[in-house]
Amino acid sequence: MKKYILTFIYSMLLTGKVSASDNFADSHIHFNWDHREETSVEEVVDILRQHNVGLTIVAGTPSELALELREQGGEWIIPFFSPYIHESGKRDWYKDEEVVKRAESGLKNGQYYGIGEVHFMNGFLPKIDNPIFLQLIKLADKYNVPMLIHIDSGNEITFQQLCLANPNIRFIFAHAGGNLRPDYIEKILNRCDNVWIDFAARDPWRYGGISKDDYTLLPDWKTLVLKYPERFITGTDPVWKVTRWSTWDTGDEGWTHYKKLYDYHWTWLNDLPEEVRKKIAWENTQTLLNK
Ligand SMILES: [Zn+2]
Repeated sequence: MKKYILTFIYSMLLTGKVSASDNFADSHIHFNWDHREETSVEEVVDILRQHNVGLTIVAGTPSELALELREQGGEWIIPFFSPYIHESGKRDWYKDEEVVKRAESGLKNGQYYGIGEVHFMNGFLPKIDNPIFLQLIKLADKYNVPMLIHIDSGNEITFQQLCLANPNIRFIFAHAGGNLRPDYIEKILNRCDNVWIDFAARDPWRYGGISKDDYTLLPDWKTLVLKYPERFITGTDPVWKVTRWSTWDTGDEGWTHYKKLYDYHWTWLNDLPEEVRKKIAWENTQTLLNK
């Protein structure tokens, strides 16, 4: 079924029913409990449609919020299983066997098409040898689905261990442009064919790190992208609370900033040659989901 949907989208593209120049695979979005306090499921789907998003990868906290989005919007919305199965699941998922049970049942019954986003923060638990995480990797292998991984680390070694140890699994390296400079990312790309690099949340209003003042890519990043055009994807990641002095019990208005984030990504994309732009904005995400 998944293959059929993506083939259908692709055939629409080839027959010209969808314009490749403006269709966007938003490959990293979230719909979390605190988003829903500000923006409804219906509103989120409308926002995506208004921006010609033809494909999107979504993770929810709790996980099943991603399913609500698909139910409302349709098969172009691709839910990943989030190990954060309750509102504060990000804090304790790695000690909770229930996470593995829910992942297995959701993958088995075809509700989810990937696993993630999973965060590993420098100096904090868990580490990538955590038993719950290792079981999630096994499930990704068993059900042949990709994993979206966020590793904050000072060098490429941790991520490289992960992708080398699991060559059958397609990994998305979330939020490139932080600690790891382009030369570290190139090492990962060189050594692991099973990795795609994601630029989500690297806009100037949050983490920055990839672009100049005019929002086009910094020279080293542009060089890397042009060298590996098939290995990059991007997404808006409309989680806004990350840099605000807000308390964690208030809503997240990230979805109200969607246009700004979307326009930002198109600005650097439009600075790339057309073939490369099409790959990053649209085709690479299909490849990674469909492989
Ligand atoms: Zn994210």
